[in-house]
Amino acid sequence: MLRVAVVGSGPSGVYTAQSLVEQTAVPGVRVHVLDRLPCPYGLVRYGVAPDHEKIKSLQGSLRTVLEHERVTFLGNVAVGGPPLTPERLLGLYHAVVYCVGAARDRRLGIPGEDLEGSRSATDFVSWYSAHPDAPAHRFALGGVRSAVVIGAGNVAVDVTRVLARDAEELRPTDVPARVLAAFAASRVREVHMVARRGPSQGRFTTKELRELGTLPAARVAVDPDDLAPDPAYADPAGLPAVNRRNVEVIRSWAQPRPPGAADGSRTIRLRFHLRPVELLGRSGRVVGVRFERTVPDGTGGVRGTGVFEDIPADLVLRAVGYRGAAPEGLPFDPVRGTVPHAAGRVLRDGAPSPGEYVAGWIKRGPSGVIGTNRPCAKETAGSVLADAHLLARRAVAEDPLAALRSWGLAPVGWAGWRSIERAEADLGRALGRGPVKIPDWPGLLAAAEPGA
Ligand code: NAP
Repeated sequence: MLRVAVVGSGPSGVYTAQSLVEQTAVPGVRVHVLDRLPCPYGLVRYGVAPDHEKIKSLQGSLRTVLEHERVTFLGNVAVGGPPLTPERLLGLYHAVVYCVGAARDRRLGIPGEDLEGSRSATDFVSWYSAHPDAPAHRFALGGVRSAVVIGAGNVAVDVTRVLARDAEELRPTDVPARVLAAFAASRVREVHMVARRGPSQGRFTTKELRELGTLPAARVAVDPDDLAPDPAYADPAGLPAVNRRNVEVIRSWAQPRPPGAADGSRTIRLRFHLRPVELLGRSGRVVGVRFERTVPDGTGGVRGTGVFEDIPADLVLRAVGYRGAAPEGLPFDPVRGTVPHAAGRVLRDGAPSPGEYVAGWIKRGPSGVIGTNRPCAKETAGSVLADAHLLARRAVAEDPLAALRSWGLAPVGWAGWRSIERAEADLGRALGRGPVKIPDWPGLLAAAEPGA
């Protein structure tokens, strides 16, 4: 009987497990889903914004997979360095599928990026999502009046929207008390979301973009001067439907406001054709961002004009994409930020490495929505199953769980995770709220202990 380890319990890991146990070609496959954290669901728990309840509810279908009789969740198990190297892991399972995501944020590579008050959007997301590795008080919003978000993808939209929210809007979500307190102290008045290209080249999806215009305490403003049409797309019909719809939404915000329209206390300013060249600082803190105005270069890109504009900022979040971090012990293509593979089979020196596979962002790079991981995981699971006859011949340990424990690891199983869930519900009840996330390692591990 084939025993597979899936490393990572985010959507790509869970969809891989699902593909492996729900097929009939190779009966009885058993899957252990390992995660570094004691909690499952990866970016669905620690990346999807707290006010996106509908996407968060995906946890329900991921849960069904993790509760499958041939799937075992093992949290608090870090794969990489000692004691659990990829080599050791491969000695425990017939196959190992790495679904470890793209852990690093990309940088801008411009002066001032490391000034205090300049951070990656990923840091902000981890903090409000209660990731146990996020420093507790990293973001104080009491001193922030103007925030600049650099980038025009869905992450930029997420952090822009969350920054423009009131504490009361976040109260029904599962954000920790300290995040709620930071939002209660927020003095944010302006959030500038700044794209280096034009409105037709935003990477956000229309639903997410449109949501910016629905916030109770904020209005969206677009400068009509930023909307110069791109000659590469002189005929809007040449644009993909999503970009065309995005342009329509953005143009609607550039219209004069109807008389009597309610005004929010905050303004979200969508800016285009501005590329960041320097973060400006005073006494080590960021005070603004210098942008160079760009114009379309006729091929879908932009070129600089030598005209500069400074936008004041007490907080700068760069939301310019993720990149894969080299998983310890696995081959890595630093340019693509992915593990080299053929249909999910890890390639070492160009040849498939027996028993090693990848799925998700570490396989194809950080793009697509959650559902994109389904076909990706299915392809990798298909490769595992096609190789099953060879994999079954690999000598593996009798009892992987006993081996993990003998190396000093203390896996948190499904019962432990359910205990954490109960503790989060209790915490929320005590605060007069729905479930509230436990934001630190000691708290999570204490809650996971049997009987806690
Ligand atoms: P993304 O979609 O790749 O967007 C990155 C943005 O950063 C682009 O606008 C890009 O502009 C800009 N950028 C890159 N380098 C830059 C630079 N040096 N200076 C200025 N701007 C720069 O990345 P993401 O927003 O991190 O999202 C990652 C993935 O997660 C996406 O597939 C996204 O859809 C998904 N996601 C989905 C949701 C959701 O469905 N609600 C939420 C969050 C994330 P150019 O286009 O000009 O390169």
